[in-house]
Amino acid sequence: MCYVNSMATALYSLYLHIPFCRHRCGYCDFNTTAGLEALIPAYVDALRREIRLAGRSAGERLPVHTVFFGGGTPSLLPVEAVAGILDEIREHFEVLAGAEISLEANPGTVSLESLQGFWMAGINRLSFGMQSANPAELAFLERQHDVFDVFKAVEWSRRAGFENLSLDLIFGLPGQGSDGWARTIETALVLKPAHLSLYALTVEEGTPLHRWIRRGLVTLPDDDLAAEMYELASERLEAAGFEQYEISNWAARDANGNNLFCRHNLQYWRGLPYLGFGAGAHGYAGGVRTANENGVRAYIQACQNAEAAVFPAGPAAIVRDRLTLKAEMQERMMVGLRLIKEGVSAADFLQRFGWPLEEVFRRQIQKLVAAGLLEWSGENEKALRLTKRGRLLGNRVFMEFVGED
Ligand code: SF4
Repeated sequence: MCYVNSMATALYSLYLHIPFCRHRCGYCDFNTTAGLEALIPAYVDALRREIRLAGRSAGERLPVHTVFFGGGTPSLLPVEAVAGILDEIREHFEVLAGAEISLEANPGTVSLESLQGFWMAGINRLSFGMQSANPAELAFLERQHDVFDVFKAVEWSRRAGFENLSLDLIFGLPGQGSDGWARTIETALVLKPAHLSLYALTVEEGTPLHRWIRRGLVTLPDDDLAAEMYELASERLEAAGFEQYEISNWAARDANGNNLFCRHNLQYWRGLPYLGFGAGAHGYAGGVRTANENGVRAYIQACQNAEAAVFPAGPAAIVRDRLTLKAEMQERMMVGLRLIKEGVSAADFLQRFGWPLEEVFRRQIQKLVAAGLLEWSGENEKALRLTKRGRLLGNRVFMEFVGED
C-alpha cells in the first residue's frame, strides 16, 4: 500500500533539531553538544540536503502547517542559515499561509539584529528558555543567561515584530520553596508571554545532576512540595487568564480571542504526522516511526553520502519501524491523555483504528476511573481525559496503557 497517497490530505509538521549549545547544562540529557559550533555550516548543508531528499521522496509537495526549530540552541544559527533552511522547506513542501514557524532561543544568545533577521526569515513564534528568575537557581542549572537577558530578549523580540512568545520555566529545584517559585512565575507574567511551559526538574541517568544526587551533594524537593508548586502555578496562571491545555503547557489568547496553543506540539499530542530532520530527530507518518543518527558527524556524513530517501525516513534514518496496531493505539493514549481538556476522543479513536476505545482498554479505563485518575468528559461523555488528580500522576496513568493485556 502506498501510505503517502493514503495520507495525502493530512497536514504535516516539520521538526528541525539543532544540537549545538555553548555549554552543556548539568541536568540536560537532550541530544546536544557543546564546542562543535565549527560544524554548524556543514550541519546546515546536511539539513538542507535531508529536507530536499525527504521532500522529493514524498512524491508531492506535502502541506505543512507548523515548523519547529528545536534543540539544543537553534538561536545559535546565523540568520542566513535559518533563512536558507526555510527556503529549502518552502521549495520542497507546501508551507501553508498562516503556518506556525517556531524557534527555540536561549535568551543569552540573541540580539535585536538577530531577532529582526529571524522575523524577516519567516519565524513567527519564539520559545525562550527562561527557566527561573532566581540567580542562584540559574547558576545551579548552569544556564548561560540571567534574568536581565530574558527581559532584554523579550523587549527586542517585540521590537522585531514577534507577538507569539513562549517562556519555559523549571520547578522542583534544590532549595526552591513555593515562595521562590511564585516569584519566578510573577516575573514571567510581567513579561506578558503568550504561552508558558512549566517543567518539573527531572533527573536523567548519565547527567551530572544524577551523579550529584547519588553522591548526596544535591537534594531535590520531595514529591509533595513539587505537587504543591504545580498546583500553585495552575491556580496563578488560571487567575492571570491562561488556559491550561496540556499537563505542562498554558496559553493566553490573542487580540481576536484565539487561543495561542503551540500548534506544533498539538500535532504530536493528537497523533498526527510529522517529519523530523537533524541529528537524533524523530518522525512519525503513515504508521511508521523514524529516528535519525544521533551523532552530529555521523548525521552530516549520512546526508552527504545519500542520493535519495524512502519516505517517511530521511537519508540519516537508523530507525524505520512500522508500528503494530496495538502499539499505535497505546501511543495514542500515552500522548493524547496529556491534553488535559481535549483528552482522547472516542469517535476519533474508532475512526482511526476501527475499534472502540472503551473496549480496547476496558480494564485500564475501569481501573483508572475508579481510582479517580481518569474521567469521561464532553457531551455524551465522548472523550477520556485526566482528572485533576490524574494530572499529578500522569506517568502512572500512561504506564497502564503500555503494559501487556
Ligand atoms: S541550553 Fe538547553 S539543550 Fe543546551 S545543554 Fe542547556 S538545557 Fe540542554
